[in-house]
Formats: sequence, structure tokens, C-alpha cells
Amino acid sequence: TTSKNIDVLIIGAGPSGCVAAAHLHNQGLSIKVVEKNNFPRFVIGESLLPRCMDHFEEVGLLDCLKAQNFEVKSGARFLKNGVVCDFDFSKKHTPGWDWTWQVPRADFDVTLTNELQKKGVNIEFEQEVVAVDFAEDGSSKTTIKDSEGNLSIIEAKYIIDSSGFGRVLPRLLDLDKPSALPKHSSIFTHVKETKRPKGVEGTIITFDVVTDDVWLWVIPFSNGVTSIGFVGPTEFLEKYTGSPSEKITKMMELSTYYQERFEGEAHLFPPVEIKNYSKSVKQLYGKGFTLTGNSAEFLDPVFSSGVTFATESALLSAKLITKELNGEPVDWEVEYTDYIKEGVHVFSTYVKEWYTGNLQKIFFHRPENPEIKKQICAVLAGYVWDKSNPFVKNHNRLVKTVATVIDMETKNS
Ligand code: FAD
Repeated sequence: TTSKNIDVLIIGAGPSGCVAAAHLHNQGLSIKVVEKNNFPRFVIGESLLPRCMDHFEEVGLLDCLKAQNFEVKSGARFLKNGVVCDFDFSKKHTPGWDWTWQVPRADFDVTLTNELQKKGVNIEFEQEVVAVDFAEDGSSKTTIKDSEGNLSIIEAKYIIDSSGFGRVLPRLLDLDKPSALPKHSSIFTHVKETKRPKGVEGTIITFDVVTDDVWLWVIPFSNGVTSIGFVGPTEFLEKYTGSPSEKITKMMELSTYYQERFEGEAHLFPPVEIKNYSKSVKQLYGKGFTLTGNSAEFLDPVFSSGVTFATESALLSAKLITKELNGEPVDWEVEYTDYIKEGVHVFSTYVKEWYTGNLQKIFFHRPENPEIKKQICAVLAGYVWDKSNPFVKNHNRLVKTVATVIDMETKNS
């Protein structure tokens, strides 16, 4: 069967696809979302940044999320060798949201799709995109396979590929490009905590830094479940042997701070391993399509930027497509690629300088410099387009320079 020519087909119903769908639907365009899985489904990416609240609010998806009482995230804590670096989003250079959430994504994402369906958005689950055929003018015929293997075709003027690590168009159109970041991997699971401490200690999101390039995340949810995960160089993680549960249990010994809290706690699912998670693409758009979220680029989990980039790029894509369908010209290179790359470059610097150790020097140097901290805090909140922030504008020099000054100070003292 062939469905009639819609304006926009969205591939994937994660946060990226949902934000794009919400905006386009609000603009009155005819759209359809196709999603490979049935929801709720597990996906990693549980720590959000304040910046993404702007996106959910703008498209009318914030209230349904607020009603879920997810754990509030008002900052982030980094630990290394007994030194604590606490960021508080209310003390940041750039004005904007000073809180967000720590979310089990199965619940978070199904909240979004339920709300969209209530608004009348057509979302089809268990429908996998298997092929796409573009015409000269950018319009497309997409082949969808349902759970029984039946094929159907959707005609659309535009495609937004929000398929996450499914990376549908990068695969089908050969747009994959190796990431410039070092090869890192991760192993993670959820535990139902029986020894969660009372108060803030029990609920605060923490990054426990074991060495410059190996760290543990602890992300407590409001439902009593906590996400734990290790990140490190692929070759480091590959040194661990045994079952996934045995591996992560052994790795927990690296965390003197958390080992006892999670010792003996059952894993709610066998720990998941994602190898060499950094992804990149040759181009972010083409005639008749855009790539958003993880389908475009994924850097690193260390600053929790994934979902925020997913919603930022989705909302911008949706706006530019609306503009073009309204007959106004769009300079995709400038209005889409350059803008998105600007933010990606800022975050890339912080990811790279995290693993060189330079950023950690700044985080864990004492006494702290409150002005520098506020400026870095704005970056960590996801406000990476604010050029009034020196740590955005001069990102490629400033982190290194400040780290060098700290080195000089330390040597002289
Ligand atoms: P997704 O949420 O992955 O959604 C894509 C959807 O597309 C899926 O539901 C999938 O089923 C569907 N799909 C795939 N293929 C097809 C197909 N062929 N046809 C139809 N549908 C399809 N981000 C954060 O913000 N915070 C974090 O703390 C964080 N931690 C992370 C830790 C690790 C180890 C990794 C690897 C990533 C982490 N991320 C984090 C990144 C985060 O997972 C993603 O950035 C985020 O989920 C991207 O959202 P999305 O909407 O682009 O994709």
C-alpha cells in the first residue's frame, strides 16, 4: 500500500522525533512518525540539560513531562580523588532554565508519544524504515516494514531522520563519517536501590572520576531506581571479562565512593555495552531531508548533551522545513549546519579537554574561581550558543589556557 503524499515523515519517536513532530503539527503540516519499536522501550540518555526545557516548552510538551514528577536535576556533581566539584545551574553566566530532570527514558519517551497522540499526531509503532528513494525535487518514497514483515510505502515532501543510533539515512545514503574523538565505550544498567541514602546524597547526579579517562555515572530516578554506568577507552573496558553483570560489578571496585552503596544490588537488566559510541556524518542535510539528534552526531556522555542536541536540532529542522514549505528561501548550510556545528564544536572542545585532563584540572583546582565556574556552568547547562560567555566564544583556547595557568601556579606553590 502507498500512503498519500504527506508534508513530513519523521523517522523515530525519541525526544528528537517528538519535538520535531510537535512543532510541525502545531504549524498545521501533515506529518507522520514511524517508530521501529513498541513503546515504552529502554534507551540510554537519562541526564538532561536545562537547555532542552526551552525546546519542550516551545512545542507544548513541557506540562505532560512536569506531571510525571521525574527527579529534578538542579546541577551536577563531579568527584575525583576526594575533591568535590558541584555545579549549580542557578549560578551560571547565561540566563535560562536552572533545572531539568534525571529520567528513565522508557517513561520519559512514552510520555511524549502519548501526549503527541492525544494532540492528534499520527505515530505508527513497530514500523521500521528499510529503504528510501529520493526524487530530483527532494520528495521521497519510503519503504516501511511492519512486525509481520509486510511492506508499505509513504510518500513525503520531506524526511526528518531522528532514528538515533539506528542512523537510517546515514546508513542508506552512505553519510557516515568516523568521529574525531578517541574510541570510547560504555557499560551500564539499572538497580533498584535498597541502601539509597536519605536526602540530597541519595538523589544527586554524580560523575565519579576514577582516572582522567575512566568515570562512573550515578543517576538516581524518582522511582527508586538508579542508573549506573562506566565510560572509558574501549581497550580499557575490554580488559574486563565474564558476563556483563560480572564486568560492571568488578568495575564498581574502582569507585571507593560508591562501591558499598551498590554492592549486592540486583541489576534490573543485564548490563548493556555500547562500543565506540561516538558518531559523525559527512553532512547534516540534503535535498528533501535533515538529520537530527544521534542520527547526525554523537559525541560523548560526559556532559549529558545528547538529548539536548537531539531536541535543538529537531526544533530547528522543523522550523526551517516549515519556512521552506511556506515558500520562503532557506540557506540550509548557514541556518542549519553552521548553527548546529557551532554548538557541537563547543561541546567537542569540552569533551576533548575532559579526556586530556585539562578541564578536570579546572574543575578540581582549589580554591575555585567563581567567575570561571559560572561561565563553565552555562556550557554544562547546554547554553553553548551564547557568545557573551568567554568559555563559549573562546572555547578552543580558554580551557587550555586556564589549565596551563593552574599548572604554573601549582609548580610555583
Ligand atoms: P533515540 O532516543 O535513540 O530515538 C531514536 C528512535 O528511532 C528509537 O526509538 C528507535 O527505535 C527508532 N528507530 C531506529 N531505527 C529506526 C528505523 N529504521 N525505523 C524507524 N524507527 C527507527 N544523552 C543525554 O542527554 N544524557 C545522558 O546522560 C546520556 N548518556 C548517554 C550514555 C551513553 C553510554 C550513550 C551511548 C549515549 C548517551 N546519551 C545521553 C545520548 C542519548 O542516548 C541520545 O543522544 C538521545 O537518546 C538521542 O535522542 P534521539 O531522539 O536522537 O534518538
